[in-house]
Amino acid sequence: MNVLVVGGGGREHALVWKITQSPLVGTVYCAPGNAGIAQLATCVEISVDDLRAMKQFAIEKKIELVVIGPEVPLVMGMADEMQEAGMKVFGPNKAAAAIEGSKTLMKELCQRYKVPTAEYRTFTDAEAAKAYVAGEGAPIVVKTSGLAAGKGAIVCLTVPQAIEAIDRIMVKREFGHAGDEVVIEEFLEGEEASFLALVDGKTILPLAGSQDHKAVGEGDTGPNTGGMGAYSPAALLDDDEMVRRVMDQVMIPIVQGMAADGMPYKGVLYAGLMIHNGRIKTLEFNARFGDPECQPLLMRMKSDIMPLLLACADGTLHEHEIEWDSRTAMCVVMAAGGYPNMYEKGLPITGLEEAAELTDCMVFHAGTRRHNGHVLTDGGRILGVTGLGEGAIGARINAYEAVRKIHWKDAYYRRDIGYRAVEREEA
Ligand code: ATP
Repeated sequence: MNVLVVGGGGREHALVWKITQSPLVGTVYCAPGNAGIAQLATCVEISVDDLRAMKQFAIEKKIELVVIGPEVPLVMGMADEMQEAGMKVFGPNKAAAAIEGSKTLMKELCQRYKVPTAEYRTFTDAEAAKAYVAGEGAPIVVKTSGLAAGKGAIVCLTVPQAIEAIDRIMVKREFGHAGDEVVIEEFLEGEEASFLALVDGKTILPLAGSQDHKAVGEGDTGPNTGGMGAYSPAALLDDDEMVRRVMDQVMIPIVQGMAADGMPYKGVLYAGLMIHNGRIKTLEFNARFGDPECQPLLMRMKSDIMPLLLACADGTLHEHEIEWDSRTAMCVVMAAGGYPNMYEKGLPITGLEEAAELTDCMVFHAGTRRHNGHVLTDGGRILGVTGLGEGAIGARINAYEAVRKIHWKDAYYRRDIGYRAVEREEA
């Protein structure tokens, strides 16, 4: 079976790595891919938002399964296009992907299906939004309703910060149309965890728990990024009682509600949760694997992924279960110096061969490209170095051993990925 993976980040490298291990696949293509993916699959220069070219390519290459990694093509309706052309698709259609594409819709669905989430109001007028935050006080959270590559949620500790956030989003239009509407919501305390599940429209098959680090700085400080690291399992979600509660309170109501309302969800459904003293609140839903959560999850997945992806498309997920490696996997993101602000591109990366020799470690590429035999930096997040080991302590040792072998000018990474899990193990 020929497979097309759409995307070119660390998540897609992990997907291609796992998919190419399956005896069910023939040729694997990836668009646009990156230097790491090119070692495993045929990469083709098509941008993820070029739906026409992607569909044309998939028809030409007789693709039978399209796996859509990032949110942008999902929200644009790539799954619908590919299905129309007769292909199986792993990923939700446009109507269902809107659960990520519009935070306003996500909040409405939570209200309708009684899924616990932060109290909120939505605004299309900046002055009304400012008056609201002045009345509510701080801390408070201001979010673009539309997609903003993980950077559209601004946690504000004071009212002036919230006013500035509204100005950035609605007046200066820093996030373009994503800021046509803002969601302003109550600040929630607690610890975050990512609950991901495969869904085929009705059956929900939970994946192992994971946690990510969004903030750029150590100790979870500084501005949010696409993600600086992640690990699995996550202690917060590593007990059956908690998984049952997340299923009962969040996943089952949303999946059943969407199916009943004529927008059945198929693909990975990712719930970003805030857990405080056992109380669960849903921060967001994503319509795809998290990046970098995907990397440690797939390192731990022992089952062949292809039957699972196909079952999501076919509606036969109830026939499947997933076997996991009992060890911990930890992904440390190596980023360009300056990220998430301005950074340089085109810098040569050294040490990849040495890192590749290590066991229980995979270097997943994100923003890289090959030029004249060299691997060059080509984005903000460059590599997701993922180690597998006994507990968070063991996984951390393996991941950072590889990280230390890899160099480029001004490379930046957090040295404390998984610190909460490590502290728990040390306690
Ligand atoms: P992404 O899709 O990359 O996960 P996003 O732009 O969709 O991010 P959210 O997930 O809603 O935005 O928020 C990003 C981060 O902001 C959260 O992971 C959390 O750390 C913080 N955050 C969001 N909402 C709240 C809240 N109500 N209270 C406290 N922190 C919050």
